Amino acid sequence: MTTPLSLVNATLEYPDGGSTITALDSVNLSVGAGEFLSLVGPSGSGKSSLLAVAATLIAPTAGLVLIDGQDTTALGPRERATVRRESVGIIFQQPNLLPSLTAVEQLLIGEHLRGKPLRAARQRAAELLDVVGLAGELGKRPHQLSGGQRQRVNIARALMGSPKVLLVDEPTAALDMERSEAIVRLLRRVTDEFSTATLMVTHDTEFVPLTDAVVTMRDGRLGAPVRSAA
Ligand code: ADP
Ligand code: MG
Repeated sequence: MTTPLSLVNATLEYPDGGSTITALDSVNLSVGAGEFLSLVGPSGSGKSSLLAVAATLIAPTAGLVLIDGQDTTALGPRERATVRRESVGIIFQQPNLLPSLTAVEQLLIGEHLRGKPLRAARQRAAELLDVVGLAGELGKRPHQLSGGQRQRVNIARALMGSPKVLLVDEPTAALDMERSEAIVRLLRRVTDEFSTATLMVTHDTEFVPLTDAVVTMRDGRLGAPVRSAA
C-alpha cells in the first residue's frame, strides 16, 4: 500500500529583504493510512509552513511532497490543485464558513467544484454531519451554531472529498478544554473510520496521547516521531 503523505528533504525558504528565511529545513516525514500524528513546536518554528507544503498549497524550494505516492512537486499548479481537491482535506483554526449557507450547504460547495451530482452529495453531506454529531443541525447557519459545532462542520466539510490526507492546524485554538478534547477525539475517530493520514498542529500537549505519535519542530527542523504509549 502506498503511503498517503511523504515529505522527502522538503525545504522551504521565504524571501526576506536581501536574504531568506528557512521555514522548513530538509524535513522528512511520512504519515500512513489510519495514522494520527501531532505536530508541536514553538511559534514561528515552521508548523503552518509544513502543513501548507504538505497540502500542496506552497511548493517547497527543494525536496519532494508525495501524495499517495505521486510527486506533486513535478506537477503544474492546475494538476496540483486537482490532487489537492481529490486527496487532501484541510482544516484550519478558523472554520471560515460562509455566513449565508446552512451546514449541509457548506459541504456541497466543494462537491460542486468536483463536478459531483448534487443528490448523492446531499446524502453524503448529511451522513458526514451525522458522523461529527450534527445530525440535528443540518439546516442551521453558522451564527446559529456554537464554536465547537462550527469546527465540526469544518471537519465534515474536509471529509467530503474522501481525502487520504487530513491536515489540521490548531483546530482547538478558539475552544475551551472540554470542547477541545471532544474535537481531538472526533479527529481520532474520523482517522480510524476513514483511514486518513492525519497530521494535526496543536499546542494542547495534553491531547497528544489521543494521537499515535508526536513530532516536534524547532527552527524549521523536524525531530523524530515519539510514539504514544499504547
Ligand atoms: P508556526 O506555524 O510554527 O508558528 P510558520 O510556519 O507560520 O510557523 O512560520 C515559520 C517561519 O516562516 C517564521 O519565521 C515566519 O515568520 C516565516 N513565514 C511564515 N510565512 C511567511 C510568509 N508568507 N512570508 C515570509 N515569511 C514567512
Ligand atoms: Mg502556525
